Amino acid sequence: MNVSDTELVETLLKKQGHQKVITPDEADILFVNTCSIREHAEDKVHSLLGRYNLLKRKNPSMIIGVLGCMAQSLKHDILENKSYVDIVLGPDSYRRLPEILERHQADEKSAVDTKLSKYEVYDDLFPNRKDGVNAWVTIMRGCDKFCTFCIVPFTRGRERSRSVSGITKEASKAVDQGFSEITLLGQNVNSYDFEGIKFPELLSAVAQVPGVRRIRYTSPHPQDVNEELLEVMRKYENICNYIHLPLQAGSNRILKRMNRTYTKEHFIQLALKIRDYLPGAGISTDIIVGFPGESDDDFEDTIDVMNQVNFDSAYTFKYSPRKGTKATEYDDQIEESVKQNRLSRVIDLQKSHTLLKNEAYVGNIEKVLIEKQSKRNKSNWTGRTDSNKWVVFDKSGYDINDIVPVLITESRGITLHGKISKKIRAA
Ligand code: SAH
Ligand code: SF4
Repeated sequence: MNVSDTELVETLLKKQGHQKVITPDEADILFVNTCSIREHAEDKVHSLLGRYNLLKRKNPSMIIGVLGCMAQSLKHDILENKSYVDIVLGPDSYRRLPEILERHQADEKSAVDTKLSKYEVYDDLFPNRKDGVNAWVTIMRGCDKFCTFCIVPFTRGRERSRSVSGITKEASKAVDQGFSEITLLGQNVNSYDFEGIKFPELLSAVAQVPGVRRIRYTSPHPQDVNEELLEVMRKYENICNYIHLPLQAGSNRILKRMNRTYTKEHFIQLALKIRDYLPGAGISTDIIVGFPGESDDDFEDTIDVMNQVNFDSAYTFKYSPRKGTKATEYDDQIEESVKQNRLSRVIDLQKSHTLLKNEAYVGNIEKVLIEKQSKRNKSNWTGRTDSNKWVVFDKSGYDINDIVPVLITESRGITLHGKISKKIRAA
């Protein structure tokens, strides 16, 4: 989401006549687009700002701005303790950037706007995208779910959806610009609701935009994944056979405390249903360990779901208390060492599942969209399968943005290796 928001900000700045530079020390204006999701993300911003402060000492006319989620929660700290920060803008205030920059150049006063909007979806702004194969298209902003661990509803405000026509127009423009893949983005993509049009209908509209070769979306909430959505995914060839399905925890007691609104049993059934509708679909997840009150037995439920579902991959996190969220008030916080042990177990287990899942691909012929040159070997491409697995293979005269049939010959670590399949090429 931050990459996508940064592309919007770039559009606004370009319109005002600004140009992008390569390194921070060449810049007259530096923006840090921030994330508050975990402490670690905030720590990174603090250290980056420290470095930018040093640059500003050498170049005192440099303007430093903080954008995005941290702007909301840290505006006082930023203004009181970081006087070198000139501009603080929350995620719904980017449109004001040109005006604020102009004013700042005239009066040099710092500017803060962290108001959240019920309506802002930047529907008419086309992001300034980087080269590559994937175009992020934001379809909704904000979140009304209020999971008790999560800061997003506070930093990004209420849920609101963008018009279907705005989204399809943007997808079409991305196709014209040469992007092969569209990823629909939102804090909760399947809460999408524009004048009664829900996510499955939107997805089907995007799938019918001429020239869209691949569609992905992230993140859906398990509560709102329904058969209608799976039907649409099954119907359109260009919708990837992949779902990111965030579990968070396996214990019903913890899920309830997290306000996740589904049970362990529902989640497992849903994963089975996905595999039923979409054979071979890749399923990834998010897992939090060490949520307040998580006992050893509760944690074993998370392990149990992992063993039953066999995710293709998982993003795993230690619970990080976020000020202002309900879960920070619970008085049974978990010790760091316990969190760390649980995290290690989850990581190890996931590794073994990923390996097993990947090994099952050996011998398959997969359609791979070429994304970039392999870091290790200049004569190889890397790209992803429909089900979201990375594959490395010989270039064989193909180019970025081509979709090619690759025979998977080996599974190494989390990556598959293969070679262009002559068989399908001939067919
Ligand atoms: N809307 C998505 C998740 C968005 S946040 C959903 O509901 O699934 C991305 C991930 O960050 C979450 O899935 C969660 O696993 C993790 N996360 C969010 N808040 C966290 C916190 N306080 N501590 C640790 N992980 C957190
Ligand atoms: Fe955060 Fe996702 Fe829950 Fe919304 S649904 S509160 S973004 S974890």
